[in-house]
Amino acid sequence: MKIYLDYNATTPIVSAARQAMIEALDCLGNPSSPHSHGRVARKVIESSREQVAEYFDIPSRNVTFTSGATEANNLVAKGFDGRVFVSAIEHDSILRINNAATVIPVDNQGVINLSALEQFVAADQGNTLVCVLAVNNETGVIQPIAEVLQICKKYKAHLHVDAAQAVGKIQLDWKTLPSLAISAHKFGGPKGVGAIMINEPLHLSALIEGGGQERGLRAGTENTIGVAGMGAALKAIVDFDRLQLLQAMLEDGILQACPDAIIFGKDAKRVANTTAVAMPNVSSTEQLMHFDLHNISVSAGSACSSGKVKTSHVLTAMGNHEKIAKCALRISTGWHTTETDIAQCIAVWADLFNKRNLQPKSRA
Ligand code: PMP
Repeated sequence: MKIYLDYNATTPIVSAARQAMIEALDCLGNPSSPHSHGRVARKVIESSREQVAEYFDIPSRNVTFTSGATEANNLVAKGFDGRVFVSAIEHDSILRINNAATVIPVDNQGVINLSALEQFVAADQGNTLVCVLAVNNETGVIQPIAEVLQICKKYKAHLHVDAAQAVGKIQLDWKTLPSLAISAHKFGGPKGVGAIMINEPLHLSALIEGGGQERGLRAGTENTIGVAGMGAALKAIVDFDRLQLLQAMLEDGILQACPDAIIFGKDAKRVANTTAVAMPNVSSTEQLMHFDLHNISVSAGSACSSGKVKTSHVLTAMGNHEKIAKCALRISTGWHTTETDIAQCIAVWADLFNKRNLQPKSRA
């Protein structure tokens, strides 16, 4: 039996989303065509927009469909004409986009330094964008978004929140956030579709131009099937809260096997489904291979498209030595995860740890 513990990379499709997508497959028309076939497809898009708007409690006109959170983040970080501040633990789709951006540090638990943020923003009043993700994808650490918003409001900066890892995991007063990005496959929807929600005026230039779809902000015939799946997934969203018990079980089990294991952000507020842990003296790559051999899918941090494991900018920004960061493993659970999966995961973790750390010593 294969065990999947990589929900932060992507989640299984929930049945409501699957059903909505199967129905949308037979939707022949182009949503931009004015004839009856087109109108049916348009209805699919617009009712999904309503579902998204309802979840976030915002007007549906604020929702623009994209290919995911990467594109939504790019739209804001690339299209903004002014000073940009980004937290040190943003996803690469923010961090690597605007080289001129100033990086705001985080503390050793991975929480943004609010006084540094205020100092930066205060010195630069005016045309300013601040990007802070709601939940970090590698550590699960929750950022103090309400406080960040207060600071941004005080100095009239626009706050953009990457909420890709937050949906279903934390409650936020979404409508108060000037802009936010989501990705459907992180909450039971399909891959390759997401949205940018703009709740406060923000001038952005389109990344993709052409037929003027999505009010000119995102040209191209809409991904009708994906959009249908995203709306349905949000409507049927499964809360990650029940995973707290499994998280405690996992972390207790690991610390019992190895009291020196480092659980990143352990003292910060974290979402219930994520544990990032360093196994002393064993590289992430070796851990990944070991888990894979035992039919458990986990991650070495954020999934990297090249398949290579790179040292995490998140863990190093938290002040961890590169040597420690290179030993990190991310275990992220979801609605199909069971106690048996976690027990198995602890056993595999402890087995590798003992092999690599205890045996050489006992032989000596
Ligand atoms: N932001 C965060 C915090 C993420 O975890 C991810 C996905 N790893 C993204 C953005 C990008 O999402 P997508 O690849 O679906 O566009």
